[in-house]
Amino acid sequence: GSVGIAIVGLGGYALRQIMPAFAGAKHVHIAGLVSGNREKAEEVAAAYGLEDDQIYGYDNYADIAGDDRIDAVYIILPTGLHEKYTVDAFTAGKHVLCEKPMAMDPGECERMIAAGKRAGRRLMIGYRCHFEPFNLKAMEITKGGGLGPLRLIQTQHQYSVGEGVTPQNNWRFNRALAGGGPLEDYGIYGVQAALYLSGEMPTRISATQMLMPDDPRFTEIVPFIASQFTFPSGAAAQLTTGYNVDGLNRVDAWGSRHTLKMNRATAYSGQEMQLTGSGKDESLNPGDPSVQFAQMMDHFGQAVRDGSPILTGGEMGLRDTRLIEAIYRSADRERPVGIRPDGTMRRL
Ligand code: NAD
Repeated sequence: GSVGIAIVGLGGYALRQIMPAFAGAKHVHIAGLVSGNREKAEEVAAAYGLEDDQIYGYDNYADIAGDDRIDAVYIILPTGLHEKYTVDAFTAGKHVLCEKPMAMDPGECERMIAAGKRAGRRLMIGYRCHFEPFNLKAMEITKGGGLGPLRLIQTQHQYSVGEGVTPQNNWRFNRALAGGGPLEDYGIYGVQAALYLSGEMPTRISATQMLMPDDPRFTEIVPFIASQFTFPSGAAAQLTTGYNVDGLNRVDAWGSRHTLKMNRATAYSGQEMQLTGSGKDESLNPGDPSVQFAQMMDHFGQAVRDGSPILTGGEMGLRDTRLIEAIYRSADRERPVGIRPDGTMRRL
C-alpha cells in the first residue's frame, strides 16, 4: 500500500513545493502534520482533507509513535533541528525523509544514521535533483563519456539577498540554525552536481571566502565562498555560492570534445540544457522538471515498503556534510586540504 507521511514543519518549501506534489505521487500520501502553529496546521489540514487528530505539535511529537496512519516523517525544518526531529522519529518507530542539508556537522549526521540503524528504519535525504529529468540526462551524458574525458565542472548557486534580513528574523542567516551560510543551503547543489556529474570523489579541496561581519545580514554567516575540487582523473570542479552576489543557478561541464551547459540547473522548474562543441549545438529537453518532487517521494515510499535501496541515503548526506566542513576548513586555514574517499579530511 501507500506509505503515510507526516510533514514536520509547515514553512515555505513544505507548503509551496512538497505538499502540492503529493498529488503526483503513487506510493506515498500525507498522513499527518507537525507544526508549532495550531491555527495554521488546522487550515492546512482542511485544505488537504486531513482530520484534526492528524495534527501534532512539537510538544507532543513523540505521540506519533502510537499513530498507525503515520509510517514515516518528512523533516522540512531549519537545518539545526534536523538531527533532533530525525532521532525522535526513529525512537517513535518511524522512517525518515529529511531535507538537505542533512544536519549541521558530520557528528550529527552520524548520530542520525546510527539511530536509524538501531531502530531498523530507513533514512533518505531530500536530494531532489537525482529524480529530475535534466540532471538525470546530464549524469547519463557525462558518465557515459558523451563529452569526452571530463576536464572541468563549474557550478554557481547564488543570489543577492535584500536589506532587512538578520540572524534573528531569518534562520538562513543564523549560525545555530543554518550552519556556515549559503554553502550548506544553496552551494550544496554544486557540491552534489560536481560529484554526480563526475562520478568521482575529490582528493583535494581548496577554498576562499568573503566575510562581511559589519553587514547586519552577515554577522553570523559566510556570505560568499568559492572552492576548487581536484578529482583522481585530473578533472577539476570550481564551485561558487553566495547570498551577496547577483543571482545565478548554473552548472557547466567541459569535456575534451563537448560542453554541457545547464541554466536554472537545479531549480524547481524552467531548466535549460545545451550540448555544444566540436560542431555540435543542441538544446536538450529530456522531460518535465516538476516531476522531481513526486519521484523523490515515491522512491522513498518504495524503499520503505519494499526495502529497496535508497539512492540518496544518510551516507550521502554525511559525505556532503564532510566536504562542506572541508571547504570551510580550507578557507579558514588559507590552504588546501586532502580528502579521503569517504569525505573525511587528511593533512596534505
Ligand atoms: P521556512 O523558513 O520557510 O520554513 C521553516 C519552518 O520551520 C517554518 O514553518 C517555521 O515555523 C518552522 N520552525 C520550527 N521551529 C523553528 C525554529 N526554531 N526556527 C525557525 N523556524 C522554525 O524554510 P524552508 O525554506 O521551508 O526550509 C525548510 C527546510 O527545507 C530546510 O532544511 C531547507 O534547507 C529545506 N529546503 C529544501 C529545498 C529543496 O529544494 N530541496 C528548498 C527549500 C528548502
